[in-house]
Parts: sequence; structure tokens; C-alpha cells
Amino acid sequence: MGKLATTSSLSDYPKMTITSVKHRLGQHAKAIRLDYSFRGKSYGYDVGITTSSCHYGNYRYWFNCPNCNKRVSVLYCAGLYVCRHCIGANYATQLMQPIDKLFRKVAAIRQRLKWQHGIANGHGSRPKGMHQTTYARLVAEHDKLAQQIIGVMSK
Ligand SMILES: [Zn+2]
Repeated sequence: MGKLATTSSLSDYPKMTITSVKHRLGQHAKAIRLDYSFRGKSYGYDVGITTSSCHYGNYRYWFNCPNCNKRVSVLYCAGLYVCRHCIGANYATQLMQPIDKLFRKVAAIRQRLKWQHGIANGHGSRPKGMHQTTYARLVAEHDKLAQQIIGVMSK
């Protein structure tokens, strides 16, 4: 049985801001080397750097997200360092999988109970010929799943 993803915040990921690595960048730096370990795995790769000029001949640095190549000032680590959009997309799929499973399970139970599709429709009645204990067990299972779905959705 799949575990529910319970976290939903960017602050759960280690982050790296361009300001925090600025001192490591020479003028016209094209990349920055990252070497680190994350959850027991070692990583070493270059992340592209771009500069944009602002007033008085100053310029500011940006990371190029290693995944989508977007210009960003903060990267988040989920193994690779990626931008918030990429980590958000990853994150959403992680969160979606368990809830999909929950929906499928609850739909299967409702089908066995011959209840109308969708938890919003609440409980139906006991189908003809279904044993009372089977019915009670299915209803309990149904309610537990419905609670989990509501829990995930309201985060
Ligand atoms: Zn990205």
C-alpha cells in the first residue's frame, strides 16, 4: 500500500541562492561546479550561470536550472538542484500518485457496494444479498479511504 506524501512545502528542500555562491564566481563565469552528497548519494556537476547587466555597469548572476534551463536565482535540491517549477512538478506527481490510488480504491469499493460514484455522494444502502459483516467491513474501509482523501485534498 502506498504511503501518503505528507509534506507540501518548498522549505523541506535544501536550497541554494545565487547570493550565497556569488563569491565563488569570477567575472563572466559560465558555470559553477557543485559537489555534494544528498541522502547518501554523491553528486558532482556543473550548473550553468548567466549574467544580466543592471545599472552603473553592475551585473547580476543567475543559475540556469539544470532541468529546464530557466534563469533563476534559487535552486532546490531533490537529488539534483533544480528550480522551484521543476521541484514543484516533481512534487505534484509524488503527491498525485497516492491520491490517484486512493481514488481508484474508493471507487472499487463503491462499485462493490453499488453506491453512486464519488465520495461526495456519501453512503448508499447495503446491496441485496451482501452479508452484513462484509458490508460493515467495506463501509469501514471506504470511510477510512475517504478520510485520507479529504486529508490530502485539504492540505
Ligand atoms: Zn527548472
